[in-house]
Amino acid sequence: MSTTVLENQAATTDLIALEERYGAHNYHPLDVVVSRAEGVWVWDVEGRRYLDFLAAYSAVNQGHCHPEILKALVEQAHRVTLTSRAFRSDQLGPFYRQVCELTGFQKFLPMNTGAEAVETALKTARKWAYKVKGVPEGKAEIIAFNNNFHGRTITIVSFSTEADYRDGFGPFTPGFRVLPYGDADAVEKAMHENVAAVLVEPIQGEAGIVLPPAGYLGRLREITRRHGALLIADEIQSGLGRTGKLFAYQHEGIRPDVVIVGKALSGGFYPVSGILADDPVMDVFKPGQHGSTYGGNPLAVAVAQAALRVLVEERMVENSAELGPYFLERLRQIQSRHVKEVRGLGLWIGIELHREAGGARRFCEALQKEGLLCKETHDHVIRIAPPLVIKKDEIDWAVERLERVLTTL
Ligand SMILES: *Cc1c(COP(=O)(O)O)cnc(C)c1O
Repeated sequence: MSTTVLENQAATTDLIALEERYGAHNYHPLDVVVSRAEGVWVWDVEGRRYLDFLAAYSAVNQGHCHPEILKALVEQAHRVTLTSRAFRSDQLGPFYRQVCELTGFQKFLPMNTGAEAVETALKTARKWAYKVKGVPEGKAEIIAFNNNFHGRTITIVSFSTEADYRDGFGPFTPGFRVLPYGDADAVEKAMHENVAAVLVEPIQGEAGIVLPPAGYLGRLREITRRHGALLIADEIQSGLGRTGKLFAYQHEGIRPDVVIVGKALSGGFYPVSGILADDPVMDVFKPGQHGSTYGGNPLAVAVAQAALRVLVEERMVENSAELGPYFLERLRQIQSRHVKEVRGLGLWIGIELHREAGGARRFCEALQKEGLLCKETHDHVIRIAPPLVIKKDEIDWAVERLERVLTTL
């Protein structure tokens, strides 16, 4: 691997100092200053190489700087980048067709960030409840779950159960009910005629790669259908191959009414998100009722088309399905007194540590020194989510380092 000329001689400490001096302190990043990336690898300003086990929270499932997506971005940037939705573009229709054919939904509504797409899904559910289901105005209720993560807007943190996400941001948006995750009976009991939708992460990522009991999504599907409510799957992080299927809900053979996508929809190049639904739901929107200046812009959807194309053509979903179980098994074989549980699906794995281990952060810092970038989630879980282009020998390389850190720290 070439670690020759450093493109950027600026010292790590100076660049960190700049961030701390001029930027809001709303994150606590590892002190690695990345200046370059390719595939599963990133390099810091001092030329050190790391395997990326976060993949930008699954936004770079296709690997960093994928050449085909890069080409689409550059070519489109030379032609036209933004028309606004006041005009049409030659990119939007082909993108809509591609994403609908790939996912089996009838329509797509484009946004930019994940949080905006979640907001869009919530607005869709409420409007559907009033206009189609006949819920009395102002009475629609949406059910969400403990330890959910759906983004950071005021409405979304209104149904978060994470104190840090909410503290100081009230007053909150009413109309949400939060139930225990994984407990379908609780949902059954909570259903009433004004429930518009159930919003669920098929696997809770930020909560620590939490898998619900087998059959849970199937039961949510059955309950929502019977009570005439929508089932909304937030697949922003779990979707687009992360779990070894295109969408995590496919593991249970169900089909939600609304699917929220983001992150890897653009392979890390550009914020592109949106929701998928069939006509009876999506047709609640009439001109002027919802929108976004950048949503569905030509640059975004040119990038998204390439990102979806390479995901399929280069069999990244299959790679996740094939290597995920191997990786999980290798990790489970590590004998470490710190490890409470190793769990996951596809290339999405959480290593939960015992409380006595002193938190996952110090393990992530030790892994950084070994050339592996992981980010702790919920204090006690080391989250592993490499780009889906990872190869078996790279997994072996990583397991060796994970074993060293988990057994010596
Ligand atoms: C990241 C994420 C979001 C929010 O996406 P942003 O682009 O950060 O706004 C929503 N839901 C889930 C499950 C996510 O992982």
